[in-house]
Amino acid sequence: MKRIKIKNSTTEFNIGKIVCVGRNYAEHATELGNEIPEKPLIFIKPASAVIYSGETIFYPSFSNEMHHEVELVLLIGKDIKDVTPQDAENAITGYGVGLDMTLRDVQLQLKSKGHPWTIAKCFDTSAVLSEFVLKDDYQLSLNEEIHLSVNDELRQKDKLNKMIFKPAGLVSYISSLMTLNEGDLVFTGTPKGVGKVNKGDVIKAGIENIDELTADVQ
Ligand code: MG
Repeated sequence: MKRIKIKNSTTEFNIGKIVCVGRNYAEHATELGNEIPEKPLIFIKPASAVIYSGETIFYPSFSNEMHHEVELVLLIGKDIKDVTPQDAENAITGYGVGLDMTLRDVQLQLKSKGHPWTIAKCFDTSAVLSEFVLKDDYQLSLNEEIHLSVNDELRQKDKLNKMIFKPAGLVSYISSLMTLNEGDLVFTGTPKGVGKVNKGDVIKAGIENIDELTADVQ
């Protein structure tokens, strides 16, 4: 069982499902040649993909192009189904930093065949998590900066307010498609600047006032 670690709290959450949003920053959608979506694009990662800051991301044998994607991650604090944005906001109990590691070569092959992205997104170590901050301790304004560097070279840097679909709207929409349970996570999409990582690289990423994480690639 994978768990969420909370800053300044003994509260722990067992991670349920991880719902991820794709193409939620316009400049990232267009950098990969994709259209800007009219509704959130949703996929799932399994909890088995989770590792924590300080651990190692492993390249699967079936890919030569793994990309970094840094994302704001929402922690769901109660069970909800088909709720309004206001009730969705109330169900978000904390915030963390996540890496949605993606096998871009595999994903391109799958997209070209119209197949699901699963194999490109669900491999072991593909979801790296920081510690989380409870909303009781910090109110997110979306003016926070999100950033990622590889070997101390800045690759991604943007404001969270560039998200097309904001947290409450995203969680409300997802809850109209499937029940969200306490301990579920929502990866909210990555800003522009995604790129390849190589074995031996060190990734550092963070969100202002939330947390920083680091992971090496092997
Ligand atoms: Mg992503």
